[in-house]
Amino acid sequence: MKKQIISIKSLLAFLLAAPCLNAGLDSWISSILPERMRASESMRSSIYTATKHLKMKKPVFVMHASLEENTLAEAENYLPFSIIKVDNDAIARQSDTDQKYVGYHEVGHVVHNHAIIDSTAKQIAMPSYILGAVTACQGVLGRHSLTPSRRSALLVTSAISWLCNILAERHVPDYSAPTSRKYELEADTTAFSLTAALDGNAPLEKRLAFLNKIAETKGLDYRDRSEAHPTAGEEIALIHAALAKKPA
Ligand SMILES: [Zn+2]
Repeated sequence: MKKQIISIKSLLAFLLAAPCLNAGLDSWISSILPERMRASESMRSSIYTATKHLKMKKPVFVMHASLEENTLAEAENYLPFSIIKVDNDAIARQSDTDQKYVGYHEVGHVVHNHAIIDSTAKQIAMPSYILGAVTACQGVLGRHSLTPSRRSALLVTSAISWLCNILAERHVPDYSAPTSRKYELEADTTAFSLTAALDGNAPLEKRLAFLNKIAETKGLDYRDRSEAHPTAGEEIALIHAALAKKPA
């Protein structure tokens, strides 16, 4: 029991200290993940080049996960660290430029700490729910009577879950519409400036030419990605801004 407490303590200490200690630690941890959890080499390399360029203190762990259809990658932001999940199979079908862009875009979500309160609160609420449910079941089944200490554990875990969920809902009142549109715009802004800084203007000019063609035929309000993402017109404006900002 004592051993377990010590290891939970050291885990907590690591999580709290991680942002200060991070000096390549995140890319090292991502590289020692088991093969089936490891994101593709090219994605890890473009993501870590971007996090280094931005001098990010908070650790970002990159890993492979099978994601929903049409989702290439996604970022989850927690208080002490972030995780970027990459769908290796889906990403392999993209061009090199597009793969880099996806990596930079997810780094954008990390840099802006998108949905951090929401994900952190949900993460804390999850074990509380499980603990609460287990304690309640034990009580109902009568296997273990609800001793005062079990009863207070149940009360505490339920209260934590309840508070965490209230916090999550208050801070992210409408995640599906305006908030996520704002997030996607911010992530794209970061992605375009990272492209200009790390890969030069050529990929941006290529995307601009493609978007101008799309805008001519389908209009400025057309978008070739899902609803939350910028329209062709908005993306054109973002790329012009990134090109203008780039130092000569
Ligand atoms: Zn996004």
